[in-house]
Amino acid sequence: MRKPIIAGNWKMYKTSAEAKQFVEEVKGLAPDASKVDSVICAPALYLQQLVASTESSALQIGAQTMHEEKEGAFTGEVSPVQLKDLGVNYVIIGHSERRQYFNETDQSVNKKVVAAFEHGITPIMCVGETLEQRESGETGSVVEAQVEAGLAGLSEQQASELVIAYEPIWAIGTGKTATAEDANEVCGIIRKKVASLFNEETAQNIRIQYGGSVKPANIEELMGMEHIDGALVGGASLETDSFVKLLEAGS
Ligand code: PEP
Repeated sequence: MRKPIIAGNWKMYKTSAEAKQFVEEVKGLAPDASKVDSVICAPALYLQQLVASTESSALQIGAQTMHEEKEGAFTGEVSPVQLKDLGVNYVIIGHSERRQYFNETDQSVNKKVVAAFEHGITPIMCVGETLEQRESGETGSVVEAQVEAGLAGLSEQQASELVIAYEPIWAIGTGKTATAEDANEVCGIIRKKVASLFNEETAQNIRIQYGGSVKPANIEELMGMEHIDGALVGGASLETDSFVKLLEAGS
C-alpha cells in the first residue's frame, strides 16, 4: 500500500509574513502523517523559519530545487548539505520551469536526484511532455526517457523511496488538466518503466504524483486512479482553504 503524498509548490510567491500565516493556519489541519504525506515546497529563503514552525506537526517543508554539489563556488545556489542542515526532507528536482528557464537537463536532474539521496533528502523528480510532443504521440517515449535518465545509478531502495511527479507541461498553471484517465495511463507507463529498470516490487513501491492544474474540484477523481499516488500542486497550494481540501482528499 503506497502512502499518498500531496505537495504544494509555492514557486516564487508569498512574503515571509504570508508564508508564516499560511503554515500557522494549515499545520493544525493537516491530516495525520500516517494517512498522507503533506508537504509545502517553499522559497529557499523561508525554509528555516517554516521548518521551525512546523516541528512536531504533520506538515512537512520541502525545497523547490538544489545544487548537486555539497559545497563550492556556485554563487546563489543552495546545497543538499545546507538543506539537510535546516531539517528539509523533500526537494523538487527538474520541475519543467527549471528545465525551461534554468537549463536543467535529464543529466543534471539525475545528478541532483543522486545527491539528494546521498544527503538523506527525498527527491520529487518531475517529468512530463510538451503539448507538441503529446500531439505528435511522443508522450510515452519522452516520459520513459526522462525516467530512465533521472533514475540512473540509484539503488533499488532509493528508487523505491523516490517520488516521481508526472506533470504534462501544457497543464501547468494553464487551468488545463489532463483527464484522470490520461494522467493514469502515463503514470502507468512510468511505473512499468521503473519495473523494467529495477523490478516489479520497486515499481509497486514508488509513488507517482500527477501535477497540472490540480484543484479541489478534480483531486478526488485523480486520486481514485490506480497509478496516481498524490499530487504536486502549484496555484491551489497558495490558498489555505484549497490546500487543506487537497490534503483531506489525499488522506
Ligand atoms: C506546478 O507548479 O508544479 C503545478 C502543477 O502548477 P499548477 O498546479 O498551478 O498547474
